[in-house]
Amino acid sequence: MIPKNHPRYKSLVTREHLAENARSGIVSWEGLISHGRGEAFDYLIGEKTSESARRAARTAAALLRTARHPVISVNGNTAVLAAQKIALLQKVSGALVEVNLFHRTSERVQQIETLLRNAGVDVFSGNAERLLPLSHDRAFCRREGMYAADVVLVPLEDGDRCGVLVAMGKKVIAIDLNPLSRTAKTATLTIVDDVTRALPLIAEACASITGEECRDLIATLDNPAFLREARDEMAARLCHALD
Ligand code: ATP
Repeated sequence: MIPKNHPRYKSLVTREHLAENARSGIVSWEGLISHGRGEAFDYLIGEKTSESARRAARTAAALLRTARHPVISVNGNTAVLAAQKIALLQKVSGALVEVNLFHRTSERVQQIETLLRNAGVDVFSGNAERLLPLSHDRAFCRREGMYAADVVLVPLEDGDRCGVLVAMGKKVIAIDLNPLSRTAKTATLTIVDDVTRALPLIAEACASITGEECRDLIATLDNPAFLREARDEMAARLCHALD
């Protein structure tokens, strides 16, 4: 039992929730390690959304709202941390939601799809084929889903698939607390923020953004600048904390 007045209450509850879901097979054990890496970077940005990440989230909304065929790719960690937030984002963006896993078994796919459906997500499922040029199981997707998408939102991605999606001509939006990751550097746009904070911001922006703002944000999109701002923010905090 985690006491409510514990200074790290939220973080401890999240860890417990992920661990429970790892025991039931929804989150992979390796997913727990990824979460730990994310937590470390979250410390460095002060566990809150920066101004720069807020602008990146609005730009993500612009990309989703102007997409012909947007798809949100969901893995085990994202489903467990933010299923309802995915449902809301799907509603306001009209994106398809598709499960895509590195540690893929049909049982895990089904478990994650059920969790998402129970949270109100309309999951695009069915027969997945090995369509992406990757040597691991992230290659599996649906022909009418991610394979045909022009914009793909990939919370908690790995760099390989991100690179492949970009090489296929898709616009890739990553949510990654690590501004140094291959994913962050390869994506069209990276929101350096926690997935649970970034998703509602994108949804909020999808509901309010105008066509003109979409055009402006897309025309001025500069991912290296977003990453520099995140790194500067982290470096400043680190230097300050050690003073
Ligand atoms: P890359 O291949 O892009 O260099 P990696 O192999 O380091 O990435 P993974 O182990 O696939 O990355 O982990 C995914 C990434 O997700 C990590 O960079 C981690 O910082 C980030 N991450 C973990 N939890 C969260 C979270 N809750 N919100 C946002 N990002 C997160």
